[in-house]
Amino acid sequence: MEGLVDRLAIHHTLDASSLENLLECAVHDTNLLQHLRNTAVRTAQEQFGRGVYIRGLIELSSHCHRDCLYCGLRRSNSTADRYRLTPDEVMACCEEGHRLGFRTFVLQSGEDAVHTDEWLVPLVSRIHSRYPDTAITLSLGERSDTSYIRLREAGADRYLLRHETANETLYTSLHPHSRGLRHRLACTQSLQRAGYQVGLGMMIGVKGQTVHNIVEDLMLMRRMQPEMIGIGPFIPHPATPLADHPAGSLGLTLATLAISRLMFPSALIPSTTALATLIPNGRLEGILSGANVVMPNLSPTDVRTKYAIYANKASWGAEAAEGLQALEDELHGIGYHIDYSRGDYIPAKYSSER
Ligand code: SAM
Repeated sequence: MEGLVDRLAIHHTLDASSLENLLECAVHDTNLLQHLRNTAVRTAQEQFGRGVYIRGLIELSSHCHRDCLYCGLRRSNSTADRYRLTPDEVMACCEEGHRLGFRTFVLQSGEDAVHTDEWLVPLVSRIHSRYPDTAITLSLGERSDTSYIRLREAGADRYLLRHETANETLYTSLHPHSRGLRHRLACTQSLQRAGYQVGLGMMIGVKGQTVHNIVEDLMLMRRMQPEMIGIGPFIPHPATPLADHPAGSLGLTLATLAISRLMFPSALIPSTTALATLIPNGRLEGILSGANVVMPNLSPTDVRTKYAIYANKASWGAEAAEGLQALEDELHGIGYHIDYSRGDYIPAKYSSER
C-alpha cells in the first residue's frame, strides 16, 4: 500500500479501484495513514512552503430556500434563528478584516431570495473598489449564468460551490426538491466559463455515502480540475433529518484530504471549520494532511452562532478573525506561519496535473 502512495505522489493519479483500496486501508492502518499524510505534507510544502493562506469568512445570511437534509439552515428547520447582514454591515466586516491583514474575503450564505443581483452586484463592486488589493470569493449557491457573469464583472474572483457528491442517487436523496446533480455541475461549468477560480468538494461521512462514493468524488474532481477543494467531515445538526447520524470519521477525512493533495498538488485546500469542530486540534491535523488554507470567521460576533449549519460550529479563538494571534501561535507550534498574501491559484508545476 505504501507503494500506491508513492505512485500517487509521483503521477498524481491512480485508477479508481486502487484509490478505493488505499482509502479503505488507510482508515484501519495508522502507519499507512501517517505515510499518506506525511507524503501529502511534503507535496504541499513543495508548492506553498510553510505558509498558510487566510481567508476572512463573512456569513451574509442564514435564510435559505433549499432543504438539504444535512444542513441546519434548511428551510424546513423552523427552529433556526435567521438573520441577514446589511451591505453596510458587510462593509464593516471587510474594513475590520482588511485592518487585521486579510487579503481575501469570502462571502458565504444560505440561498436567500433577497440576494438578487440588484442586491449583490453593488455590494461586490463596493468591496472591489474599496479594497482592490483583496480577492473576493463568493459561496452563494446555485445562480443563473448571467448572475455569475455579472458578479464576476463586479469584481468577484473565486466561487466555492461544493458538488456535495458525484453520485446522482445519493445527491437526490440528500437534496429533495433540488434541481439535481447535473444542474449543480452545470453551475460549476458556468462559473469556469465566467473565469472564476472554482472550488468543489464534499462532506465525509454524510448518510448513505460509501468509500466508493468518495472515489467517485475524487474522479469527478479529476475531470473538472477545480482550483479549490473543500473537504470536511459531516457533523449532525439536531434539527435536521440527519440529527442521529454520526459525524464523519476523522481518519477517513484526513486520508481523503491527503489523497486530494497528492492528486491536485497546487490546489488551494482549506483545513475546514468542520474539521476544527470535530476535534479540538482539527485545524492543525488538516494542515498536517496537506491543507494550506484556513478561513477564520469575520462575521459580526452577534450572528456567528446563528449561522448554524451544524451543531457547535467553531467560530471563536483561533477560528475567529480577531483570534489571528492564537492561530499564528498554533501554526508556529507545528512549524508553519500565516501567509498574508492574496493566495491566488498558481497553475501546476506538474505537467500531468492539468
Ligand atoms: N448555500 C451555499 C452552497 O450551497 O454552496 C453555501 C453555504 S452551504 C451551508 C456551505 C457548505 O456547508 C455546503 O457546501 C456543505 O457541504 C456544508 N455543510 C452543510 N451542512 C453541513 C453539515 N451538517 N456538516 C458539515 N458540512 C456541512
